[in-house]
Amino acid sequence: MGESKASTMRQENGMDGYEKIDQYNPHTVARIAEKFHLILNDLGLDPGREGLAKTPERVAKALQFLTHGYSLDPAEILRSAMFKEDYRQMVIVKDIEIYSLCEHHLLPFFGKAHVAYIPDGYIVGLSKLPRVVDAYARRLQVQERLTVEIRDCIEATLKPIGVAVVIEAQHLCMVMRGIQKQHSVATTSAFTGEFQQERTRAEFIRLVSTRP
Ligand SMILES: [Zn+2]
Repeated sequence: MGESKASTMRQENGMDGYEKIDQYNPHTVARIAEKFHLILNDLGLDPGREGLAKTPERVAKALQFLTHGYSLDPAEILRSAMFKEDYRQMVIVKDIEIYSLCEHHLLPFFGKAHVAYIPDGYIVGLSKLPRVVDAYARRLQVQERLTVEIRDCIEATLKPIGVAVVIEAQHLCMVMRGIQKQHSVATTSAFTGEFQQERTRAEFIRLVSTRP
């Protein structure tokens, strides 16, 4: 029944390119929702009132979506689109949107990632770099580890001449709680190989800083 409903929707939408289908294990959703029901209670709220009735289930699904990166294999994403190519110049994909959850407060941090590498025999389909960023961002993270994980995955998989990753992000746990420095942005960076050289790194920074 679920499947026939999905295929009807597909026809109605007339989608033949991209489509997003969210699938959740109903048992996992129920288990997580049960606990959020108790949490709402403990917060002094009435989980039975109309607006909150479905909240535990929604939160359960949202959390599963926001952590679905654990079920993805970022190295495999890269390997699925690696091509032999003699290009040995810097390849940059900048302004990749990131949305992640800080593992200390389960509050979002979000911003932009800039990723570059210098190929050594292999290039990768450009769309795969944002997908690798996403696969690590959709986990419970700290910005520093997210930065290094993206770098290390590209380094280990493509074995390029160098990798550079810069992430600029705002953390709601910082903005909404206590300190309230609403416009502060945290910047992290991680480099390998050729990007350890001052000149190469400076070129990368210059290229990702220029705004169109
Ligand atoms: Zn936090």
